[in-house]
Amino acid sequence: MTRIGLGYDIHRLVPGRKLVLGGETIPFEKGLLGHSDADVLVHAACDALLGAMGMGDIGDSFPDTDPRYLNIYSIDLLTAVYRRVNASGLELVNMDATVFAQEPRLSPYKDRMAERMADSMSVDKGLINIKATTTEGLGAIGHGDGIAAMCVVLLRSATPKSGNSCPSGNG
Ligand code: MG
Repeated sequence: MTRIGLGYDIHRLVPGRKLVLGGETIPFEKGLLGHSDADVLVHAACDALLGAMGMGDIGDSFPDTDPRYLNIYSIDLLTAVYRRVNASGLELVNMDATVFAQEPRLSPYKDRMAERMADSMSVDKGLINIKATTTEGLGAIGHGDGIAAMCVVLLRSATPKSGNSCPSGNG
């Protein structure tokens, strides 16, 4: 069985907040506004995984009215969501995401973001691809009002771990 999922998120950029994307803190004069750390990339990834499982969206699982999630490091939500993937007998085939930001320049951080996200799900970093683009100065993102992210994932039925297989060895 394979399952596909799509996630999208956008948050407003404001002064006085830390900028966290893909779990990585990025030096910038503004950060994203939200109840959590407002990590749009990780939120889009969570929504893609939840979508693939048919489990609604991130707001259903982690309501932004719940004080438990105030200022939470969103990468911990990704860990929690991926535990559900495993509990559903599924595993990640691959994840592909794009971050839309006019500033700052994100290419130096893409690799580290993929690493942090892979670590949080305990999957191989090679399964995760992070892309970054500006919007060529167009629209709200182009004017620096916010940052958005889009993510797709493919899940499949989990293959049994080696060593867990049938003792006769022919299973
Ligand atoms: Mg969000």
